[in-house]
Amino acid sequence: MSQETESLLRQVGAILDGHFLLASGRHSPLYVEKFRLLEQPPQTEELCRRIADHFRPQSVQLVAAPTTGGIILSYEVARQLGVRGIFAEKEPALSRSPERSEGAAKGEGEGFRLRRGFRVAPGERTLVVDDVLTTGGSIREVIEAVRAAGGQPIGVGVLVDRTSGRTDFGLPFFSCLTLDFPAYDPADCPLCARQVSLTVT
Ligand SMILES: [Zn+2]
Repeated sequence: MSQETESLLRQVGAILDGHFLLASGRHSPLYVEKFRLLEQPPQTEELCRRIADHFRPQSVQLVAAPTTGGIILSYEVARQLGVRGIFAEKEPALSRSPERSEGAAKGEGEGFRLRRGFRVAPGERTLVVDDVLTTGGSIREVIEAVRAAGGQPIGVGVLVDRTSGRTDFGLPFFSCLTLDFPAYDPADCPLCARQVSLTVT
C-alpha cells in the first residue's frame, strides 16, 4: 500500500528526486511538494480515503487540521466520514506586535487556534489530520487547541510522515506513506561531493 502511495505521489510530482536545500539548511536528495498532490482532487480523495478508512471504526465525530494544506485534507476526510471538518490557523500578523510577528516561535502562544466560530462539543471525538509530518509542531498545536475547546483528540492521520515514524503524539497514528528522508549537513553531503547542482526550495 505504501509503495502504491509513493508511486502515486511521484506520478503527480509531489515527491521529487534531486539535491535540495531544505528550510533547515540541510541538504536532501528528496523533496515533497504537497500541493502537486492537493491540486489533484481524484488522487487527494484516494489518499484521504485511506486515512478515513483507518479511523472509521473509532467513531470519529469531527476532523481538524492546521492550515494550509490541512484545510483540504480536513474537508475531504470529513466528507468521507460524514462528519464536520474544521481547521486551526495562526493569529493574523496584524494582531501581533511587530517584533513577534516574524519567526515567532511555536509554543509561545502564537500557534494554531480555532477561529471563525468553529466549535467543538464537549468530548467530541476528533481526528487530527495533516499533509506532511515534518516536526509535528503544528499537529501538536491543533491537538492542544481541540483539547482546550473541550474536544477529545482520538488519533492523528497524515499523508506523508517524513520523520520515519519517530514522532509520538501519544495518540493512535496513521500515515499513508512513511519516508526515510535523508538530510545531510552540507559539509557531509554526498550530492555536494558529486557536485550535483543544488535546488533551493
Ligand atoms: Zn548537498
